[in-house]
Amino acid sequence: MTEPSVFTRILRGEIPAEIVTETENVFVIRDIAPKAPLHLLVIPKSPDYRDVTELAAGDPALLAEMVAVAKDVAAEHGDGDFRLVFNTGSGAGQTVFHVHAHVLGGDLTEGSLG
Ligand code: 5GP
Repeated sequence: MTEPSVFTRILRGEIPAEIVTETENVFVIRDIAPKAPLHLLVIPKSPDYRDVTELAAGDPALLAEMVAVAKDVAAEHGDGDFRLVFNTGSGAGQTVFHVHAHVLGGDLTEGSLG
């Protein structure tokens, strides 16, 4: 059996973290090492999907729910504008293989990808 991810351990209360909000299927925490003025993680409660490609193929409705929750928390905790990042694969910086979306907000125009 594989070890539970850090996010599953947070959800179980085994690792301390403030749950910013949650729905039936998704929960949100603040990133422990923020990379932007607002840096939240939107995480499915299910540990079944390692990354966004698996989630999109296996449960697109859950992916859509994550995006909707990201929109809500960006409005509630920031100014409503946000960058949504799914690191996918270790070469892209993914370190936790339990799919999660980084919600980055604040003034990000300096580091714009566009
Ligand atoms: P990844 O690098 O996999 O895309 O993102 C994992 C994120 O989880 C990182 O930004 C990292 O700072 C965050 N993280 C890792 N461990 C913890 C923890 O114990 N608590 C919180 N709140 N965030 C964590």
